[in-house]
Amino acid sequence: MERLRSWFQTNKRSLPWRDNPTPYSVWVSEIMLQQTRAEVVIPYFHEWMKKFPNIQSLAEAPIESVIKTWEGLGYYSRARNLHAGAQTIIQQFSGQIPSSSDELNKIKGIGPYTIGAIRSFAFKQKAAAVDGNVLRVISRYKGIKEDIGKTKTRKLIENEVFKILPENAPWEIMEAFIELGAQVCGKKALCSSCPLKRDCYTNLNGQQKILPIKEKKIQYEKRFRAVALIENNQHFLVRKVNEGEIMSGLYEFFYIDLNSPEEEINKILTHLEKKSALPLIYRKKLPKVNHTFTRFRVQILPFLLQTKEQKEVPSYQWKTLEELDLLPFSSGHKKVLQNLKKIFKT
Ligand code: SF4
Repeated sequence: MERLRSWFQTNKRSLPWRDNPTPYSVWVSEIMLQQTRAEVVIPYFHEWMKKFPNIQSLAEAPIESVIKTWEGLGYYSRARNLHAGAQTIIQQFSGQIPSSSDELNKIKGIGPYTIGAIRSFAFKQKAAAVDGNVLRVISRYKGIKEDIGKTKTRKLIENEVFKILPENAPWEIMEAFIELGAQVCGKKALCSSCPLKRDCYTNLNGQQKILPIKEKKIQYEKRFRAVALIENNQHFLVRKVNEGEIMSGLYEFFYIDLNSPEEEINKILTHLEKKSALPLIYRKKLPKVNHTFTRFRVQILPFLLQTKEQKEVPSYQWKTLEELDLLPFSSGHKKVLQNLKKIFKT
């Protein structure tokens, strides 16, 4: 493992959460990094730490400002869990992130990987932090021919990692495995540059195309959605998504689901009028936007529509563009908002 350690010391990327890691900075960064590349996370991490520099400030912040800061990272339940988790830490752990697995497990949104990461990187314990990178690297390195999507395989790999970790600075080797997965042993394994190549099962047996084994792929469901930017006197109709719905806490424009992206505009308009109970005048189409979330791939077809007065529509509010700018939106509706702003600022 010493070859891996020295490779890591020479090649590790400089990332803001790696300088003086604290339990809080490790927690926040690891939640942000789930299914998101480090380069994307960096500006979010800086902004978050500026607004919520510690557990106390996060626990006391209004949820809207937490979600607004997260806007664009997707999977908003993570932001809500960080907020709820900070409140648990204040109430149950006197404001200090605990260092044991059992206690960390009581905090909302913290799963086995994050527990391992906090114990390893922040508390410098010998602990396995197995993310997607580590699953891939270890299954190749040890020749584990089991589906890495299964919990059973994850546990097996956690045990393997624990056995491999040395007594001397185990956290450094733990992070080195993650970095190796990000830089060298990626989807395409760059074995000739790998510090593990001499004793890696996959390299010795030429099985780079076989390992890791991943059986199930996410089946995305396609959706088509007409988004209505209903305007009156430079005010637009939006609603805050209810608790319990996907995207809860975020804002969205008025929309209807379509059977196909080719539906006639008149038909769409009739549906929209029926749903909003507003008389609508078609103004123009805005550029299409693609939005992927959970298991959905949505093609958003935005339309600018006008209505003659600001009638009340249950659950909806009329907002100016300046007000909309301050609200958190899902990334799909945010892109629509940006295109809308271009029209009204010219
Ligand atoms: S030698 Fe190749 S397959 Fe093995 S860990 Fe390194 S990059 Fe991955």
